[in-house]
Amino acid sequence: MVKIIELNERQERILEIVKNHGPITGESIAELLQVTRAALRPDLAVLTMSGYLEAKPRVGYTYKADGASNEIKKILNQYRVKDIMSMAVVVKEKCSIYDAIVTLFLEDTGTIFVVDKKNNLVGIVSRKDLLKTTLGKVDIHQMPVSVIMTRMPNIITAAGDDTVVEAVKKIVEHEVDALPVVRRFIGQPGEDNLEVVGRITKTNITRLFLDLAFK
Ligand code: ADP
Repeated sequence: MVKIIELNERQERILEIVKNHGPITGESIAELLQVTRAALRPDLAVLTMSGYLEAKPRVGYTYKADGASNEIKKILNQYRVKDIMSMAVVVKEKCSIYDAIVTLFLEDTGTIFVVDKKNNLVGIVSRKDLLKTTLGKVDIHQMPVSVIMTRMPNIITAAGDDTVVEAVKKIVEHEVDALPVVRRFIGQPGEDNLEVVGRITKTNITRLFLDLAFK
């Protein structure tokens, strides 16, 4: 696990100095802080390694305005979907809408994936899809989820090796709560199958956000 770099008081002061006086040499920074050049070495190393400062030979240190945001990007891009995903909650195509609603409560999830006999993804139903059917006059004990589900190829999916950032982008752009995590494999000629291996939801992402905040 990576750590977000928290700057100590002296490092914050060095940043201020370089922001206002850069390019500036290590000696001059040491003079302003009234410490020896050697004492500053570890702090300057942290600041250059984490991208806040750039060290140019014979010129000195300059401030990189996007250093902190680069650091955040670097940290976020290290997380893969497979690191934070949950188990997928799946039902078969013939499952009734009633049973799908029961599954939603029992499994404490908001989205259910619909799979065929081989566990290949064929559809997805959200809580509002299910809620909508209960407003009409359909017999939810008889009607299968396959009638109301969003079908392939209209399902937005993620792969385990995708970065979490890529998954978040899809969730935001397509305005959905969850993505099935799939493994693509070629079956019969011309068949492109997606085996469901997990799910990534807004909850997983919120949890990661909190974990990072307390690192
Ligand atoms: P809800 O509408 O219950 O708040 P969503 O916003 O996730 O939940 O779903 C909105 C619509 O998009 C629903 O009709 C659902 O079937 C569909 N949907 C949900 N997830 C996906 C997905 N990953 N890919 C494509 N469609 C989806």
